[in-house]
Amino acid sequence: MKIVLASRNRKKIEELRTLLLEEIDGIEILSLDDVGIFGEIEENGTTFEENALIKARVAARSGYIGIADDSGLAVDVLGGEPGVYSARYAAKCHFAGDHDDEGNNQCLLYNLREVPDEARTGAYVCAIGCVLPDGTEFTVRGEARGRILREYHGNGGFGYDPLFYFDQFQKTFAEITPAEKNAVSHRGIAIKAFAKKLKELVQND
Ligand code: IMP
Repeated sequence: MKIVLASRNRKKIEELRTLLLEEIDGIEILSLDDVGIFGEIEENGTTFEENALIKARVAARSGYIGIADDSGLAVDVLGGEPGVYSARYAAKCHFAGDHDDEGNNQCLLYNLREVPDEARTGAYVCAIGCVLPDGTEFTVRGEARGRILREYHGNGGFGYDPLFYFDQFQKTFAEITPAEKNAVSHRGIAIKAFAKKLKELVQND
């Protein structure tokens, strides 16, 4: 079974590849480049699910199963922000400099500067969209709840991980191993749900 993954974020591709290979026997994971699909995909959806499907539809143009994830951090006291803007949150803070992980984290810390510890709760969310060669579409979602610290802890992971404290481990997502993260993360949970659904659909063919 060939699956084309519509992502250009190398760290995310690695996480997704590891998780998919664990869940589904005998799959081959291809990138958009591998199937000759180039160029940027405009993610103009207003939900994680919409954006995941927009990208998955592009991957499905290959004729294989197309999948994509859209993920981000939804902080309760910020009404779900950064949400679908997680990758470009720095753009909302004029001082945050580069529009990269560091800028995004600085913007988040700034917006939470007056929020007390007990209210700094939120969830990483991951939606996976899938488009089958016959046009069938579905999405699944995974969430991991945590708290946003006031300073960085750890060097692992990516994005908001050094600020995202996970009570079960009493560590941030930047202080745990990739295997520990995959076992509890929004992406890990979503991939398991995706694999279950895909197996049902493909077996019923
Ligand atoms: P996407 O590539 O459009 O799905 O944007 C995802 C963005 O959400 C990333 O750039 C990160 O800022 C954030 N994000 C999603 N998942 C994670 C994670 O596992 N760790 C840290 N940040 C994440």
